[in-house]
Amino acid sequence: MEAQQHDAFANVLAQLTELQAVLKVEENAFTLLQEPKRVVRVAIPVKMDNGAVKVFIGYRSQFNDALGPFKGGIRFHPDVNESEVKALSAWMTWKTALLGLPLGGGKGGIIVDTKTLSAGELERLSRGYIRALYKNFGPEIDVPAPDVYTTPQIMAWMLDEYEVIVGRHQPGTITGKPLTVGGSAGRGPATGRGGALIMKLAAEKMNLPVGSSVAIQGFGNVGAEFALAAIAFGFKIVAVSDSHDAIYNPAGFDVPALMKYKHDTGGVKNFPGSTVCADVLAVEADVLIPAALENSITAQNFGIIKAKLIVEMANGPITPEADKLLADKVIVPDILANAAGVLVSYLEQVQNASNYYWPEEEVVAKMNLLMTDAFNTAWSKMEELKSSFRLAGQAVAVQRVVEAMKARGWC
Ligand code: GLU
Repeated sequence: MEAQQHDAFANVLAQLTELQAVLKVEENAFTLLQEPKRVVRVAIPVKMDNGAVKVFIGYRSQFNDALGPFKGGIRFHPDVNESEVKALSAWMTWKTALLGLPLGGGKGGIIVDTKTLSAGELERLSRGYIRALYKNFGPEIDVPAPDVYTTPQIMAWMLDEYEVIVGRHQPGTITGKPLTVGGSAGRGPATGRGGALIMKLAAEKMNLPVGSSVAIQGFGNVGAEFALAAIAFGFKIVAVSDSHDAIYNPAGFDVPALMKYKHDTGGVKNFPGSTVCADVLAVEADVLIPAALENSITAQNFGIIKAKLIVEMANGPITPEADKLLADKVIVPDILANAAGVLVSYLEQVQNASNYYWPEEEVVAKMNLLMTDAFNTAWSKMEELKSSFRLAGQAVAVQRVVEAMKARGWC
């Protein structure tokens, strides 16, 4: 196992060091880029259904707000730790900057296995997180959203708790909400849809033929919506995995049927027409989509990958070591590939601020335009720097953050 698997923030620092060799930003700015502005750790007491009080540990890392309020999701997962939320908050900062949004980057999390909680316990935990941290949130301060194992329902509970505490409606405090409490049309499928568009743009640049095959690691909201949008573009989904099993069908899956099957049975195992697949990473496919958790592709397992194009739908799925070893492939970095989620979160905030809501087509049209712009900007930067796509995307983002920090007189 690589040390980085336990210290995600070390990955961020390694990437920054590599970036600095090319960008050579001023020393003062570089110093500021290496530390989150604020990291808060809270203990959240929850009265469990059996009457006992259990204490959960939560975090919020506010990395950089030079470009605007901190922005980023809240993750509920047993592996959440301070280093991970710090890393994810840095990547959110690069993500919003690359998209050209007036937002900074943040990330939060609670150490919890949501599968062990009742609905009531989950609601009390979600409300408890806001009670512990509400002073740090607000449309002009820091705006949370869903992430791994957090849902629109959880966002609704969190917003309600926040609005009760502050005594007024302020829907722009949290995004990824259900439509009925100020959510945006098209937010749910946004991350997957935007990623499929980015894959299509990259495939066109690489002259991959229509009907190219795709293997997807992770079939949650992001992986499934990605698959749905990808088949609409003419791609073929030949392998899919969830947290327990991987399945294969060289003819391509009926994605809506697979989504229904997973919904009904809880997993992808034994989906009709599929065979068991030992490792989804090793599948004979043109494109690989890591859409699960970070560090799933390492210096140990990178060699089994056959795909020519990798589109990072998870945050940080490839360790820096593996990233270098995969230099012969085109890797679309997470900060671009999965950026449509936060992009539509931003559109949700704009709608909340004006209290006027757009039809889904309008949201999708704006999303597609901004995603295509970000892709083209990063691709041109890659050609200019003759670098990896990741380094180019991060270079565009970091330069924008540095410019804003300088304008503010921080460095
Ligand atoms: N959690 C998502 C991400 O990692 C969305 C964040 C947001 O909408 O603020 O980009």
